[in-house]
Amino acid sequence: MIKTISYLGLGTMGSGMASNLLKAGYKLTVWNRNAEKCEPFARKGARVADTPADASRDAELVIYSLSNDQAVEEVVFGAKGILSGINEGQIAMDMSTVLPATSLREQKAYAKHGVDFLDAPVFGSKQESADAKLWIMAAGNKAIFEKVKPILEHLGQTVYYFGKNGNAAAMKLVGNLIVALEMEALAEGLVLAQKAGLDLNTVMEVVKVADFRSPLLVSNGQNILKRDFSASFALKLMLKDAGLIKKFAENLQSPIPALRVAEKNLESAVALGFGKENASALIKALEKEAGVEVKGAPLAKIPAVSPAFAELRRGRERRPTTAGHL
Ligand code: NAP
Repeated sequence: MIKTISYLGLGTMGSGMASNLLKAGYKLTVWNRNAEKCEPFARKGARVADTPADASRDAELVIYSLSNDQAVEEVVFGAKGILSGINEGQIAMDMSTVLPATSLREQKAYAKHGVDFLDAPVFGSKQESADAKLWIMAAGNKAIFEKVKPILEHLGQTVYYFGKNGNAAAMKLVGNLIVALEMEALAEGLVLAQKAGLDLNTVMEVVKVADFRSPLLVSNGQNILKRDFSASFALKLMLKDAGLIKKFAENLQSPIPALRVAEKNLESAVALGFGKENASALIKALEKEAGVEVKGAPLAKIPAVSPAFAELRRGRERRPTTAGHL
């Protein structure tokens, strides 16, 4: 049974997961590029390592969640990286969103050191990470997965095994393709609703219950109406993921026409300076083009009937009710 764990990368996702490992009673070592983020963990009894190599020496399981492929390159393969500290018999697990090809490269490099490797990216965001409610996918050697599964169960509400290395990373990109298109659809839909003069609070009431509802549309839609773009999943990370999806899909000659449109709008929103805001700030690119700002009325002021519907009803009342007007 694994008892000692190192966690590298204490960003939005990593900090929640590392906290939950401490709560679950594991002996934890942490490392982060910006060392300040280690302080709250040190206060709770974690050992703070100086380098990724140092962090990797004393743990049965070395976990990391880093921004992108470049960060993984530096932290795993770089000077004083994990590979220069980890030893035979240890397990490494990458929970970042990276290309499946990167996961395979990691697996091969670890194998040369006698180290087993799992790619284990996640769905869910800041809140799910903090609440140990992530949806986790993992791939690699099945026996190693079974050994690590009890730990993953302290981090997430579901854990899926995807077979050979790279498959969990691939599933993450499949899921994020869907996420990106949902965000694009939400942004286009809300801008159109605003242009049409619909009451946006009522629009969101429908989005909450209709047959196209999804938790992602509801939470992001509500935050857009409040103009709350504080980052749970940063726009720049979603743009990064769009690039990964494109590379992955093009390699497999799988069509992604809608993703190309979403990527263009993500690029525009980042160019406008919103890269550090939440991914839902994608809407700001469309708002600029449309010349509107999507904003909900304060709840107390929500009219019983939406202005657009009231106008429609007034129009109907003025007109003779012939089929031509229906
Ligand atoms: P984040 O808050 O930006 O944290 C990124 C982490 O990577 C930080 O610890 C950062 O260190 C570290 N890092 C970045 N570049 C580095 C480098 N060159 N060398 C060493 N460390 C480096 O990102 P996050 O939201 O936690 O996301 C982490 C991963 O999970 C990403 O791959 C993301 O796509 C994925 N993910 C995110 C979400 C989400 O909703 N946020 C959901 C699912 C998956 P510093 O603190 O020093 O900058």
